[in-house]
Amino acid sequence: MANQARRSLLNTFFLLGTLALALILVPLKLALQGLRWSEVGMLALMYTLVGLSVTIGYHRLFSHRSFRAAWPLRLGVLLFGAAAFENSALWWCSDHRQHHRHVDDPDRDPYAISRGFWYAHWLWVMDGEVRPLEGVQDLQRDPLIRWQHRYHFWIGAAVALIPVYVGLATGHVWGHLVMGLLLRIVLTHHSTFLINSAAHRWGTQPYSDANSARDNGLLAPLTFGEGYHNFHHMWQWDYRNAARWYQWDPGKWLISAFAGVGLAHGLRRTPETDIRKARVAMEAKRLASILAGASPGLADGLVDRLNRAKGRLDQALGTLQDHREAWVARKVEWKRRGEAKGPDWRRLREAWKADQARCRRDLREAWSAWKATRMQVRDIRCA
Ligand SMILES: [Zn+2]
Ligand SMILES: [Zn+2]
Repeated sequence: MANQARRSLLNTFFLLGTLALALILVPLKLALQGLRWSEVGMLALMYTLVGLSVTIGYHRLFSHRSFRAAWPLRLGVLLFGAAAFENSALWWCSDHRQHHRHVDDPDRDPYAISRGFWYAHWLWVMDGEVRPLEGVQDLQRDPLIRWQHRYHFWIGAAVALIPVYVGLATGHVWGHLVMGLLLRIVLTHHSTFLINSAAHRWGTQPYSDANSARDNGLLAPLTFGEGYHNFHHMWQWDYRNAARWYQWDPGKWLISAFAGVGLAHGLRRTPETDIRKARVAMEAKRLASILAGASPGLADGLVDRLNRAKGRLDQALGTLQDHREAWVARKVEWKRRGEAKGPDWRRLREAWKADQARCRRDLREAWSAWKATRMQVRDIRCA
């Protein structure tokens, strides 16, 4: 209890103290000194490096094991992640894994939105509750993570002071300290906190409504792609948070780039067919609720038609996925036997391609039937 009271006091002092100082000192500094390019540059650089380290390191690599990383990359994200001042990677991951395992449970989710927006945002940190490390034995085997766990505050301080070193070198310590250190810490904190609060309160639920997580495109630029939280809670082990091409997810692009130069491997992806199935299931749920509210004459026959269209689409998606997986397994087997690329292999590949084209055709037809039924149900709402 005494430990919790001490932690609560320290955390509250740090979170409120940095915010209050930033609110006073940033306007004062701007009024008295204006803004130098190097100060803006250090703020942007540190916010980016620390934010990316939390996103791709603390979150996607360590908490969810969505890819594997070589030691230089692990070291880099541990150094800059410590400068977020959001605890050690080990504590962060322990809390986060509990969040996923018990999401929305007020007693077991450390930042449950069911305890209120501000609790999920930062009151849970100020609470200072001392939870045991849980479910992170895999991470404890990594000597780099153990080292960061022991010295995270001092590592974080040494890295966070980089703008001040630049200030010392250029003779403008004060401006670099206010912008590159103080303001950067506050921005890093609240951008992370918004994922626990806003992304569980505002946004859309295209994949699941089993919990409060929501996709919120406005949060993605602040957090290097972490705004698509509904997708993330559905497939937490995916190295992406945004699966669609137009969604902003620099974390995903950077992980792919690291894989390209050999620093990352084993990137885990949800099959496209699973993503489409989940979207269709959610759409079907919404359409069914429109039909449930419609007068009996209008909805006649549409419930059956909707179920049939969904069944056909699910089946087409399932067949396409099975077909792909069977091919991958076969390819591995042929490669293992050293028989890939021979004439038999080429014949088999041509047959597979023809089959694949048939599966795709079936899927297109099922998709058109689904869209037509969807349109009919939506028309009822307007009738
Ligand atoms: Zn969440
Ligand atoms: Zn997560």
